[in-house]
Amino acid sequence: MKSPDAIRQLVKAFSRLPGIGEKTAVRLAYFLINAPEHVSTELSEAIQIVQSEIRLCATCCTFTDQDRCAICTDTARDASIICVVDSVQGLRAIEATGDFSGRYHVLHGVLSPLDGIGPEELRIADLMKRLTDTVEELMIAVAPTVEGEATAIYLQRLCAPLGVTVTRLASGIPMGADLEFTDPMTLSRAIEGRTRIG
Ligand code: ZN
Repeated sequence: MKSPDAIRQLVKAFSRLPGIGEKTAVRLAYFLINAPEHVSTELSEAIQIVQSEIRLCATCCTFTDQDRCAICTDTARDASIICVVDSVQGLRAIEATGDFSGRYHVLHGVLSPLDGIGPEELRIADLMKRLTDTVEELMIAVAPTVEGEATAIYLQRLCAPLGVTVTRLASGIPMGADLEFTDPMTLSRAIEGRTRIG
């Protein structure tokens, strides 16, 4: 019999996960307690492996188990255009359209001064280092929120003196929507109809 404290701790840990409310956390905790031991062992091992092996790609800052990710090392991909996303989920959403063959850069967030997130908290310096002569266009594909728009405009101002064209996805993506929940058809149209900023 596990001590109630141990169960409470597990419930608390599950509650921190996105989309998991108190009720679901309790359900998951009791599921694991009742399940065969290997179920918990596999889960905790998988979490530990992810923690020790997954890191940020040295170039685009997506998650990878290598120094550089599979997209950055794929020489067939167009190096002249970089799609800037706020999250790895955004990258996956664009990639799922099959309509983008350039490179990516993951910011890991958007500018949000009220939450204390400035340029230093994002992977913007890493992005600027990549803007060599090869790069002609930055395609900003962050969620169309106030913070997303501010981030796009900030990047446009940084890039203007460098002669890099900054575009953003066309409208059609609902305001405030996460790219990962936008259907691939809508995203494809938004990529196709992207417009220049500034
Ligand atoms: Zn990469």
